Amino acid sequence: MSGEKTFEILNKIFTPKYKQNIEDIKGYTIKYGHIVQNEEIIDEVLVSYFKAPKSYTAEDMCEINSHGGILIVKKILEICLANGAELAEPGEFTKRAFLNGRIDLLQAESVIDIINAKSEKEAKTGISQLEGQLSNKIQEIKSEILDVMVNIDVAIDYPEYDVDEVTIGQIGNMLNSVENKLIKLEKSFDNGRLIREGIKTVIIGRPNAGKSSLLNAILKEDRAIVTEFEGTTRDTIEEFVNINGIPLKLIDTAGIRNASDEVEKIGIAKSREIANSADLVIGILDSSKELSEEDKEILEIVKSKKSILILNKIDLKSKIDESIEEIKINVPIIKMSALNNIGIEDLYAEISKMFNLNQIEVGNELIITNVRHKNIISHALSNLEKAKKSVEDKMPIDIIAIFIKDILEDLSNITGEIVTEDIINEIFARFCLGK
Ligand code: GDP
Repeated sequence: MSGEKTFEILNKIFTPKYKQNIEDIKGYTIKYGHIVQNEEIIDEVLVSYFKAPKSYTAEDMCEINSHGGILIVKKILEICLANGAELAEPGEFTKRAFLNGRIDLLQAESVIDIINAKSEKEAKTGISQLEGQLSNKIQEIKSEILDVMVNIDVAIDYPEYDVDEVTIGQIGNMLNSVENKLIKLEKSFDNGRLIREGIKTVIIGRPNAGKSSLLNAILKEDRAIVTEFEGTTRDTIEEFVNINGIPLKLIDTAGIRNASDEVEKIGIAKSREIANSADLVIGILDSSKELSEEDKEILEIVKSKKSILILNKIDLKSKIDESIEEIKINVPIIKMSALNNIGIEDLYAEISKMFNLNQIEVGNELIITNVRHKNIISHALSNLEKAKKSVEDKMPIDIIAIFIKDILEDLSNITGEIVTEDIINEIFARFCLGK
């Protein structure tokens, strides 16, 4: 429970073993006792006390730890509600923390990212954001702009002092410096997207090349955490796999998974279409067979995308290898026996290298993972271009100031200093209940 009436309600339903006035109970205290209704003991519980402003929401709060199981938890919830508590909406605790000024909007959003994180790197990005690293960066950029704004205001208010020359020079330097920082953040979004959504990967190859064997080898890995999503097209499933910290979103076409069902197997045209939307294409050839026409088409697709080529079935007598003209296509080649789990580690190493995954060291580099933030930064950059142009065009300083204020406004939107209620509601609606 959170809010002004927390301890009043708690008093009505909780009988601690050692009674104390609420004024005498310190925050961060846990007390043992019973939840009681009409003098009947409902459960034996531990209650944690948090006193405003030192709590998650910055309000008075308590947490009741009961025995597990749905029934007791529901019962205690009902008793709370009957005694004046109201059910929290999704994200309400975090929303209150934001509205009470304990965290900014960036940090609130990072809570959702942490809860929904599918990989360790993603969780780490969320945590560094919760710790305020991105907020600090945005504040740093803002104060850089504000430092110059002060001089601009002086120049506007006291036109008799001829400070324009100096100020214009400062503005130019500041805009360039801010531009560099914003561009860096904007670019980090691509890496952020890979961490968050996974590297969209598709395996293509002609029937019997070994696509499902490879897919199964990947999905079978003990270290793989697999989450199934419905794919964007009706006949695909997306599986999120996290191997050695490499987040892969495997686009699993129905045909690949269900190898026995020939009808469902996808043709070259469809492969090409799916490959087009992928971050990574894994082309697979059966090295125990001569190159077929279909293989050549697969190689064409592989050539046109960020790809890895797999020569599968190396346990059998080989008919093709790298020396073949058609295969000299400047794409990393991995020899594999999907059936015997040979070459799978090499594949992971290659993917890791390709996407510089080892260099995405969360903590050292700030990464934007949220589309809302990315869009605002792009918007700020377009305002920055306008400001730069107004300087180049030698516009009056009060006009330049308007563009610069627009940049400041964008940045305040990210942290939530100025933000509309609609946006706030939209953001917190993405939360699950109880956070
Ligand atoms: P798909 O049609 O591309 O999905 O191919 P499958 O994964 O279903 O494989 C077709 C056949 O090749 C199956 O009988 C597999 O057991 C076999 N196969 C797959 N990979 C290997 C391999 O590395 N070595 C050998 N010897 N057989 C393999």
